[in-house]
Amino acid sequence: MATDYDAPRKTDEESEDSIEELKNRRNDKNSGKVDEDEVEAAETYELPGADLSHEELTVRVLPRQADEFTCAGCFLLKHRSQLAATRGGSEYCVDCA
Ligand SMILES: [Zn+2]
Repeated sequence: MATDYDAPRKTDEESEDSIEELKNRRNDKNSGKVDEDEVEAAETYELPGADLSHEELTVRVLPRQADEFTCAGCFLLKHRSQLAATRGGSEYCVDCA
């Protein structure tokens, strides 16, 4: 009788263990999903990132054009046509003059 009583109890414990195992497996699955998302995100960011660095390089390589000036007021590169005033060697655009 005692053996019969122990048998279902053991099964209960085993099922409890498998529930814990399932929980752990679920967590593992979730963490694995996150890793996949991170890998996907890294792959997605790689292309625009590479393009951006290329554009940055192009902008740095480009020197200031002869028909452009740096405004001493807003420090923006402006076209000569927007040069409104020159004070003490500093050039000001139409917005800052
Ligand atoms: Zn300005």
